[in-house]
Amino acid sequence: MSPAPVRVLTVAGSDSGGGAGIQADLKTMLALGVHGMSVVTAVTAQNSLGVQGAWELPVEAVRAQYRSVVDDIGVRAVKTGMLASAELVEAVAELLATTDAPVVVDPVGVSKHGDPLLAASALDSVRKRLLPTATVATPNLDEVAQLTGVRVESEAGMREAAEAVLAYGPRWALIKGGHLAGDAVDLLTDGSAAHWLRAPRHDNRHTHGTGCTLASAIASHLALGRTVPEAVTAAKEYVTGAIAAGFALGGGIGPVDHGW
Ligand code: PLP
Repeated sequence: MSPAPVRVLTVAGSDSGGGAGIQADLKTMLALGVHGMSVVTAVTAQNSLGVQGAWELPVEAVRAQYRSVVDDIGVRAVKTGMLASAELVEAVAELLATTDAPVVVDPVGVSKHGDPLLAASALDSVRKRLLPTATVATPNLDEVAQLTGVRVESEAGMREAAEAVLAYGPRWALIKGGHLAGDAVDLLTDGSAAHWLRAPRHDNRHTHGTGCTLASAIASHLALGRTVPEAVTAAKEYVTGAIAAGFALGGGIGPVDHGW
């Protein structure tokens, strides 16, 4: 009998097109050799063209999935993604406050196509309830602006963004500068140590699922025992490869690839 694999949980939304959300999370976990488990928060009807519909699950269904997994199987790390509503953000934050496992919070706001994945009324719950549970929070620059009001136009502004995010209580902030021109530069900091992570930009428009993949890879590496800077560095390498291998699917933006 082989030893029990390291277990990682994603709490996120389903992407019917298989490129982002729960589907990207589970593919990442499989690729990195951990056992992936899922608490589905919402179901989206989605493809390469955008999100055609989204339905959140009842709070009881989210709580029950979480308790089923955690109380029996156990988790070594948790990742959160699309949480849809203030009620779900509050419920998930309450559940996460009871775990010792590291938590990676991807504060998903809007999809690449501009479709809202979080109600505007949930922003305050993300700031005050969810971010304080995070070992690492991974906002992109749009999410930084939405959550903190800080607008970053250049690498120089990323420190201020990190401070504004850290003020809400995550232990580490990973500010993702991928939307700036030039190299894909991210800043990881806990307020004292600062790690700049730089990767050459791949000229590939098929990047659907990038944020989900990065956060899941960080959670997987944390579950495998790496420190936060080690986990984020390894996850950035993974997602850079996945972006380079992203492929066309449907008529719009295709997904990053996990089989590279
Ligand atoms: N759909 C779901 C369910 C997601 O969780 C996310 C991102 O977290 C997206 C879509 C957006 O993916 P992208 O912005 O990479 O297109």
